[in-house]
Amino acid sequence: MKGVKLMIVDDSPAIHVIIERAAIANGYEVCAHAKNGDEAVKLYESTRPDVITMDITMPVKDGLTASKEILAQNPCAKILMLSAMGDEEIVKEAKDIGITHFMKKPFKGEDIVNAINNMILGETGE
Ligand SMILES: [Mg+2]
Repeated sequence: MKGVKLMIVDDSPAIHVIIERAAIANGYEVCAHAKNGDEAVKLYESTRPDVITMDITMPVKDGLTASKEILAQNPCAKILMLSAMGDEEIVKEAKDIGITHFMKKPFKGEDIVNAINNMILGETGE
């Protein structure tokens, strides 16, 4: 899908590469890269991405806290939360604050792109 503005949030550089490659191949614009939740909140304000891929476990500020702060700024922010084994409790909390899209690690770049396309299409009811 063309023109989707994506922010990638993860403390793993390898994840940024996997997601960015697939995103660009599908016509997305990667407008921001954040390596922790603190950067994510700041970059969300300045770049206003359409969609965010959000890691959970990160230094400085975790993905759940960052998601809360982003949703406080914009309750309609679209967040795809990337969970790992052992994150079940956090996923429950994330659902409680209104996050509805999740992807389990490990994933392929195209899994992320498919999930994002569904998130965007879901908005228009297609
Ligand atoms: Mg991490």
